[in-house]
This record gives sequence, structure tokens and C-alpha cells, in this order.
Amino acid sequence: MKVTEIMRRKMCFSFEVFPPKAEQPLEPLLQTLEHLYRYEPDFVSCTYGAGGTNAGRNVAICQAIKESGRTIPVTHYTCIGNSREQIKADLQRYLSLSVDHILALRGDFPKGWTETMGDFDYANELVEFIKENFPQFTIAVAGYPEKHFQAPSLEADIAHLRVKQDAGADFIMTQLCYDLDQFRRWMEKIRQAGIHLPIDAGVMPVLTKEPTIRMAVSNGSAVPRELAELIARYGENPEDFKKAGKEYTVRLIYEFVNAGIDGLHIYTLNRWQDVSEILEASGIRGKIRSGE
Ligand code: FAD
Repeated sequence: MKVTEIMRRKMCFSFEVFPPKAEQPLEPLLQTLEHLYRYEPDFVSCTYGAGGTNAGRNVAICQAIKESGRTIPVTHYTCIGNSREQIKADLQRYLSLSVDHILALRGDFPKGWTETMGDFDYANELVEFIKENFPQFTIAVAGYPEKHFQAPSLEADIAHLRVKQDAGADFIMTQLCYDLDQFRRWMEKIRQAGIHLPIDAGVMPVLTKEPTIRMAVSNGSAVPRELAELIARYGENPEDFKKAGKEYTVRLIYEFVNAGIDGLHIYTLNRWQDVSEILEASGIRGKIRSGE
């Protein structure tokens, strides 16, 4: 089954994991996946290091997800440093493992780079290439409710998202966003711009102080007052911070669901225990399953 078909029937529910470094064992992540499968995700996506760093581990994880028979693997993939030939070979490899869902990205430039140093400059070119050469793939693209940090304006970024749709993208996966008012405005704006693709909203759990701040700031995302207060109040006490952060995440999940999204995508940070607690506290998985 394709993720887009699932989205037509009900709200999709999924997880994101990242592969371990080349020198680290796969086993802990494989165990994490076993725990995550208990929540019956419709798909699990695996990140990809821009420039292909650690690409072997991404492939191994996608393969393991596929072979588990428990859910659909979605691989992330970037243009950074990649020639057409290399991309062809990589995509053929995914297909040979029956991995046929891909998040097609430009990728962040590695330190010191100012361009992709590959055959494609933007994600829309990758989408077009995949569509033309490997139509078997279901293609997701990145969307930025607060605009991509390099885009001159939200309108320009939405116009670029439209180009990705026109190139053949099938659904949108969004960047972390804690500002739900902005998220709702963005949803309205992209629909007005003729973008009809299903929206899979990315939820970044609030678990630890420094990474929460770092990830928001590095993406150019806002830290709304409620989250800023949480950081100020509990920032010096990791245990209290995590407890309050999980409660905040549960409220965030409900706001996303009420915004009328087509899918909820939890960035697990490979922390199944924390994610499980958030899901149990929210009761959201049962609600999604029963279609409430
Ligand atoms: P693009 O869509 O190409 O956009 C990049 C910038 O160029 C934007 O500012 C856009 O407005 C502008 N632009 C786009 N098209 C054009 C055009 N035709 N002409 C002029 N300007 C244009 N990165 C990783 O390295 N690995 C991952 O696994 C990964 N996973 C991600 C998962 C999600 C859900 C998201 C939202 C992001 C992820 N990223 C990942 C980060 C992503 O690679 C970066 O945000 C990157 O900087 C942009 O990638 P993109 O595909 O959105 O690029």
C-alpha cells in the first residue's frame, strides 16, 4: 500500500528515526524499532546524511524496516554532492530492496559549501528526475510552515513548494514548528497557492533544553511564549523539564490534529521510551486507529 492511499482513508501516523554512526552497532536502533512497531505506524522514515555520509547505514535501516513486514519504510535522500548517475544507482538500490517511498530533499550544505556540488541545485529537480526515471516511487517533499531559513519570504518559499508539487511530489512532510498559529496560516496560504498535496505534520518532542533551543534556532523556527516559559522555569532541572516538555508535546499533538492535517509524523530522536510515554499520555494512537 502507498502512504498516499492511507492518507486518503484516514489520518496517517508515522515515526522518524536516524541511523547510528558507521562505527556503532545497528542493534539498539533495531530494538527501538521493535518498540515503535507496537504503535502500528503507517510508515517509518529514516534520515540521510547530506553528501551521503553514512548512507550505508540508512540503507541498512530501510532494509530492516522493510524486512520486518511491520510497516512501510520511507527513506530520506538529498541531492548534495550527487551526480545523476550516482542518484540513479542509489535509487535502483532502494528499489531492489522494495523501498519505494522517498523524501526527496536538496539537503543542507555541509560546512563551507555554498552550493550542492552535484547535478541538481534544488529539490524540485530531484523530484522531476525521480518521476521521470523511477515512477514507482511515492515522493514526499519538505514543507516549511515558518519558511525555509534561506528563502527571501514565505510567499517565495510557498512558490517553490508549488514547483515541487508540479514536478510530481505526492505529499508534504513539514519541518518542526511550535507556532501553531503560523502553521494554520501556512496551511491556508499553501491551499490558496494551489497546493493540494496531503500534509504530514512533523512533531518534534520537547525533551531536553539545549537540543530544543538548538533545533528551533538552527531551522529559523520560533520559540513561542509558552515554550519559552517552560525553558525558563524548568531549564536547570532536566527531570522537571522533560516532564513539562512531554505535557507540552501532548498539547502540541492535539493542536496539529485539530488543524486538519493528513498525517502526524513523530520525530522520535530514537528515544522510544519518551515517545511511548507521550503517545500513551495523549491517547492519540487509539484515536487515530479508531478514526475518532
Ligand atoms: P529545496 O526545496 O530545494 O529548498 C531549498 C531553498 O531553496 C529554500 O529556501 C527554497 O525556498 C529555495 N528554492 C527551492 N526551489 C527553488 C528554485 N527552483 N529556485 C530558487 N530557489 C528555490 N536534511 C538532511 O540532510 N537529511 C535528512 O534526512 C533531512 N530530513 C528532513 C526531513 C524533513 C521533514 C524536513 C522538513 C527537512 C529535512 N532535512 C534533511 C533538511 C533539509 O535538507 C534542509 O531544510 C535543506 O536546507 C532544504 O531542503 P529542501 O528539500 O527543502 O530544499
